[in-house]
Amino acid sequence: MSPNPARLHRPTRRPEFLLVLGSCLTVLLIMAIVTVLLIREHANAYEAAKRTANNITQLIDADVLRNVELYDLSLKGLIAAAERSDLEDVSANIRHLILFDRATAAPYKGDILLLDKAGDVIADSSLLTPKPGNFADRDYFLAHQQNPDVGLFISRPFMARCICDDQWRIAFSRRVSGPDGRFLGVAVASMRLSYFQQLFRSLNIGSDSTINLLNQQGILLAQQPLLERDMIDKDLSLRPNVSRMLRERDGSFRGISSVDNRERLYSFSTVGELPLMVAVALSTNEIFAPWKRAALLISGATGILCIGLLWLTWMLCMELRRRHRAEQVLSDLAATDALTGVANRRTLDERLRLEWDRAQRSSEPLTLLMIDVDHFKAFNDRHGHQGGDEALRTVANVIDSNIRRPADLAARYGGEEFAVVLPHTDSKGAWVIAEHIRSSVEYLPRVAGDTMPVTVSIGLSTWDKNNRTPLEELLLSADRALYEAKHSGRNRIVDAKSLA
Ligand code: GH3
Ligand code: MG
Ligand code: MG
Repeated sequence: MSPNPARLHRPTRRPEFLLVLGSCLTVLLIMAIVTVLLIREHANAYEAAKRTANNITQLIDADVLRNVELYDLSLKGLIAAAERSDLEDVSANIRHLILFDRATAAPYKGDILLLDKAGDVIADSSLLTPKPGNFADRDYFLAHQQNPDVGLFISRPFMARCICDDQWRIAFSRRVSGPDGRFLGVAVASMRLSYFQQLFRSLNIGSDSTINLLNQQGILLAQQPLLERDMIDKDLSLRPNVSRMLRERDGSFRGISSVDNRERLYSFSTVGELPLMVAVALSTNEIFAPWKRAALLISGATGILCIGLLWLTWMLCMELRRRHRAEQVLSDLAATDALTGVANRRTLDERLRLEWDRAQRSSEPLTLLMIDVDHFKAFNDRHGHQGGDEALRTVANVIDSNIRRPADLAARYGGEEFAVVLPHTDSKGAWVIAEHIRSSVEYLPRVAGDTMPVTVSIGLSTWDKNNRTPLEELLLSADRALYEAKHSGRNRIVDAKSLA
């Protein structure tokens, strides 16, 4: 028979639980730290891109402004020279020199022309004798003709009338007025927009990002790289991102491009006081690509680390469980009588002390049965030690199966003697149990060839609040009652109370 482990040892899972809890919290903490770091890095990448976009915008802004100033300077020089009254007296050569004295060697510069009030060319920076031509239909001419206060006018992009090239240009123009404010004509300088294309191309901002130059009406003057064909001179003012830029004039935001539906970071700035705007659109895919690579690497490494940690925890738990089981088996073995499988003397002593203390606190009764197999020496003589051992096992089994409560304990006291501890049981209840044990043993099937049944004598002693005796006295009185049961004929129960 195997001992009842529940009566001997209660296993605890607390260390495993703490280990799993600790590991899970560590994993959560690692994941939280990594997540916070990645979120911070993401924000840093965005801020850095914003700074870069802003720097590019400012750089282009300054370049455009410098160029426009150069053109304006040339125009002002041309107008100042045109207003000189002595210009008629000098030769065509000298007049050309005076008129275009301040015409700078601005890059990608087209011609600088002086138009009269009818729009006819009266002076050309590139030719001593100007080619006949009329530009009265151009937007800049009409603007100056209709309004004396336009100042420096920047035209819409246009193609040159000559067949010299098919490049887009814009014109910078100023009105030439008489002393009385009369409209006398227009000084106009054209510029090839390829200059800006070239400038933008020199800035490496990524293949999916663009640099744009727009005028105040949202007309695209230059874009690098060109997202669509024939984009120059297109009115983009109705596109949501462009209209927001035109409205806000300076700043940055993230938006979805209506051209390719990709998200971009838009940084934009108005060029000085001019009706021009520089807009840099950086692809967020490109901005966050290094961050994505790093995030993938870090999350992968963290994932592996966490899985490794959990796996180690799992292995440790398995090992702890295995050890607990081994310890429990050992502890059960140490608490069990090897021959009969019931609790041994050591366990009996411990449990009896425990239940005794508990009974003292609760004042609940505690009964001890001392059980001794009758004439066992003779039984041994008849059936040999093997047979005797078998009979002891059977008796132990009968005793153990007659106690039911978890706190009850059957133990081998020594030799052919057993003890039963019955907490919360008064002598009346204990007598019933003792009688069950006694009769069950008596009516066990006879051992082959034996006419005598195996019987037991039982001494019963109860501690209760009315009979406050020490623990040793409980043992002694149970022993005395057992002795009395033997003395008065065996196969019976004697309550120590009846001896008093
Ligand atoms: P009583 O009715 O007065 O108890 O007589 P008894 O013969 O049972 O008592 P006694 O104390 O004279 O003899 C006990 C015997 O029990 C002695 C011993 O041979 C036997 N015994 C004790 N332990 C074991 C054991 O582990 N196995 C076997 N087979 N016999 C045992
Ligand atoms: Mg004995
Ligand atoms: Mg005996």
